[in-house]
Amino acid sequence: MDPNAERPTVIIRHCDSYDVETIRRIVREGLEELGLRPTGKTLLKPNLVAAGDLFEHAHTRVEFTEGVLLALRDRDQGSVTELAVGERCGITVPTRMSYEAAHYNPMLKKLDVRRYCFEEVPQVEIPLTHPGRLRDYLFTPEPVAQADFFVNCPKFKAHPWTTVTFSMKNYIGIQDDRHRLIDHDHRLNEKIADLQYIVQPQFIAIDAIIAGEGRMLTPIPFAMNLIIMGNNQPAFDAVCCAIIGVDPHDVDHIALASKRGFGPIDLPAITIKGDVSLDDARKRAHGFQVGLIRVEKYFEGTAITAYAGPPPEGEKTDYCWGGCPGAIEEAIEILRLFDKECDAKMPRMHVVFGNYKGDIDARPGEKVVFIGDCAEWKGKIGNELVQIRSVYKDRATKDPHHAKHDDIFAKMLSVSTKLGTSRGSHVRIEGCPVSVAEQVLALVSLGGLKNPYFDGKNMLDFNRAYFAWRATQVTQRMRGVPYQKLGPTQRGEGMPVIGGGSEK
Ligand code: SF4
Repeated sequence: MDPNAERPTVIIRHCDSYDVETIRRIVREGLEELGLRPTGKTLLKPNLVAAGDLFEHAHTRVEFTEGVLLALRDRDQGSVTELAVGERCGITVPTRMSYEAAHYNPMLKKLDVRRYCFEEVPQVEIPLTHPGRLRDYLFTPEPVAQADFFVNCPKFKAHPWTTVTFSMKNYIGIQDDRHRLIDHDHRLNEKIADLQYIVQPQFIAIDAIIAGEGRMLTPIPFAMNLIIMGNNQPAFDAVCCAIIGVDPHDVDHIALASKRGFGPIDLPAITIKGDVSLDDARKRAHGFQVGLIRVEKYFEGTAITAYAGPPPEGEKTDYCWGGCPGAIEEAIEILRLFDKECDAKMPRMHVVFGNYKGDIDARPGEKVVFIGDCAEWKGKIGNELVQIRSVYKDRATKDPHHAKHDDIFAKMLSVSTKLGTSRGSHVRIEGCPVSVAEQVLALVSLGGLKNPYFDGKNMLDFNRAYFAWRATQVTQRMRGVPYQKLGPTQRGEGMPVIGGGSEK
């Protein structure tokens, strides 16, 4: 065992392929080097935000997770009481469908590992007391709150809202839909930093064998042939940033978590080891593109012209990086995958976000779509004087206790009714945020595109998984299992944990 293992340590290892036994050996050696053994309820959280043939590089590959689970078994000396995998994939899609599409189910069955779909289990309240928090409590799925040994297994990807999605950003998947959308706006980085108080992982292993460049749901594959492991979340993310040439101080959720004492992000304070040096890892990542592109630029040269003004709380930012503008970028990329004619079919249209003050250059017949509660504009569209007022609600009015799940079929009905019956020059879509799913549905409706939810086999799988999820909730309610269980756990209290370590 390394005597420095308590110091935040990041191990960078070469890995040729998605061979399960190779991954198992590398990860077992990483656990040994960090002096870690799983114990009690051991929960592994992958990133399964989107899965299936069209989303091959968006998620933690099944071979990777299998290798990590086997390595955890190798290191268990009989004290693990439950070995489980838990996730909430991209909202509206049932997580059970993502497990299926990512080929996790046969693997979990073979290894006799329990599977949790986080939107189907009780949600537990975690109190927050730290200065600068967005709210006084958060909800998280019960298996997360009860984990004795938490293993974070993200995918190494760029992200259009938060620059990167490594270890800390993977925590967006430890909330169910209702709670995940709260504060998923221009304060998203602060939300991610607040989520760190729920739990800190004892062990992190990121799938960087084939990383994802440029976007998060439909990333471009970028072979790096790396497995990176660590025992401290900010230190881990800082090294991942360093590999792609990003200063971790410039990634707000990483910098904020470090400032709050979760761990260092300056490289001299981190032990970096492994069979690939940081310099060599940087060479492998040369040219890796992150996804931070403003929406106006993103749509240049397409049928869509985008305009963005600042969101509310202007002292924080002049652009909503965590909400509606980024969601439309992901939405159009999904539609391009499902409908090759997407760009050709799309009529000229204009999308407007935030408090936009400039002109909108819409010609007769071109629709103007104001997206989000904070959209605000006054001016002429053709000869018509138009005034759009902000309907943004202060975040203090959004109580997570009363957050409701927005059903996808209800969303489909509401978006298609609204857009289908809109005859004028403009239309307003409300929400904060207007999610990727809603913006997919809006563009489908406006552009006459193929609806991914009705795409052949996808539709059958979706409906099967959706109704199974709903049936589970109904059964739980009938049995008296609380879907939302109130009351604090031990997790949200106390000071941040620096470094890892359970049993040595
Ligand atoms: S409505 Fe959309 S753009 Fe406005 S603050 Fe909310 S998430 Fe951001």
